[in-house]
Amino acid sequence: MDAKQEKSKQRYILVVEDEEDIVKLLSFHLEKEGYRVESRGNGREALELIQDKLPDLIVLDIMLPEMDGLEVCRRLRGNQKTASIPILILSARNEEFDKVLGLELGADDYMVKPFSVRELVARVRAMLRRLEQQGQPARENEAEEVLTLSGITLYPEQHRVTVNDEAKTLTHKEFLLLHLLMANAGKVLTREILLDKVWNYEVEVDTRTVDVHIRYLRQKIEPDPANPIYIETVRGVGYKFKVDRGTYHLSTFLVVPLLNLLSYLSISILVDKWYVPLSTCGG
Ligand code: CA
Repeated sequence: MDAKQEKSKQRYILVVEDEEDIVKLLSFHLEKEGYRVESRGNGREALELIQDKLPDLIVLDIMLPEMDGLEVCRRLRGNQKTASIPILILSARNEEFDKVLGLELGADDYMVKPFSVRELVARVRAMLRRLEQQGQPARENEAEEVLTLSGITLYPEQHRVTVNDEAKTLTHKEFLLLHLLMANAGKVLTREILLDKVWNYEVEVDTRTVDVHIRYLRQKIEPDPANPIYIETVRGVGYKFKVDRGTYHLSTFLVVPLLNLLSYLSISILVDKWYVPLSTCGG
């Protein structure tokens, strides 16, 4: 089995927790166990990430900014796509009420802070073993490749984009759009496909939403949004990330011979300069 296959079999755990020390501690110990770990510090961002990449298991703190863990749990259980992801809830000692509610909402296990990390890792292992016994393979949508095209680099794991090494702040939807377009560079993606992949089960959107988001995205990544060089509109169909073949040909057929010519000239000049004094010496 090669490294890539090994990685695709790796279980992916999402830690949703706003206390950085706990995140660091859990990440360290879970990664040591061979799991791939990502974390989010608030409920809303966690839900966005989960929509994008389904984890094999979620460690979910109750007290979170923006949206608390119970609400996250309720939403995950209410959605067919995420309903069966195992959830281990974390909570402070005095939140006894939440324990009942959390389990009622469909959390699979529950730990009270302060907890033993070894105990938590053991419970995670047990929960994942149950998945294996049910024959559920590791999710295969993780460990995505970094994409680099025409000066734009997209890091799926870190949710980060740079244009000519300058970091750009994109919204979640803009990021998903760009990711999809870059992953299919050179191919036209229809508005319907983009709508389906980026907005999946949200009902209150139509194809104009795609155009609006493409416009925002262009404002952030295009040097001149009115004359886009990256994202091309294919009239009546959709959008395409341009594969910059022009630059490639230019560098191959113009720049390289030019460099060769320059190096040839400089060698000739050097030889000339050497040649004169040498011949003088000889005489
Ligand atoms: Ca917390």
